[in-house]
Amino acid sequence: MARRTKIYEGKAKILYEGPEPGTIVQYFKDDATAFNAEKKDVIEGKGVLNNRLSEYFMLGLAQIGVPTHFIKRLNMREQLVRQCEIIPLEIIVRNYAAGSMSKRLGIEEGTQLPRPIVEYCYKDDSLGDPLVSDEHIAAFGWASQQDMEDILSLSLRVNDFLSGVMLAVGIKLVDFKIEIGRVYEGDFQRLVIADEISPDSCRLWDIETGQKLDKDVFRRDLGSLTDAYTEVARRLGVMPKTSTPITKPTLIN
Ligand code: UDP
Repeated sequence: MARRTKIYEGKAKILYEGPEPGTIVQYFKDDATAFNAEKKDVIEGKGVLNNRLSEYFMLGLAQIGVPTHFIKRLNMREQLVRQCEIIPLEIIVRNYAAGSMSKRLGIEEGTQLPRPIVEYCYKDDSLGDPLVSDEHIAAFGWASQQDMEDILSLSLRVNDFLSGVMLAVGIKLVDFKIEIGRVYEGDFQRLVIADEISPDSCRLWDIETGQKLDKDVFRRDLGSLTDAYTEVARRLGVMPKTSTPITKPTLIN
């Protein structure tokens, strides 16, 4: 079979042209990077887990009426998504202080915030994805006022959904990052949740023990990343309960 045309290769995913116009195939790699790719490794099975987990979250969001780019999972490592124009912002929602917010504001990691706080970073690896304000976004035309209203409300809906799903399996959603894209339907544009939602882009802590079940395990050398992601997948029922933590992926199809 002819190999698909590669559109883009990022740190954790490759995008290929999809079978129909307006579609893209997202391939989840096993590569893990942190600190703007200064730290790198290949974590066997990570791509399979993230493909599964992202499918699970995107389908759940669609069920509560939050539009996403997800169409269907194709196989262990690939999913078909709608092509969209990515807004050049990383949207971060925080429920508890951690990571860069703790450093920036001197708030101890794990402190509950008075309410969810939404932050925007300009998507540019060469600049280290700097934090920007609504003013920058408006002045540089990265998103309109209407987009910003929609982005805020979508982000908070995703936060409520993910927080609830995680709470139900004994996991605290500390923070997460999403990306949002525009899709055009005739003369109209609509915003959809794009990219991926996985433990690569969330902070997930066990409610009882505080154990980290996300990419901080890799960033901070806290043990096996595959075991952590497998635990999240197992609790959510995304993997059969009998599965042991994987090195060689044994996920159901
Ligand atoms: N995040 C991400 N990609 C990025 C930056 C952050 O997915 O390029 C996620 C990160 O995993 C965490 C949240 O966004 O869940 C907030 O990250 P933070 O700003 O604290 O940055 P970090 O401490 O990870 O550098």
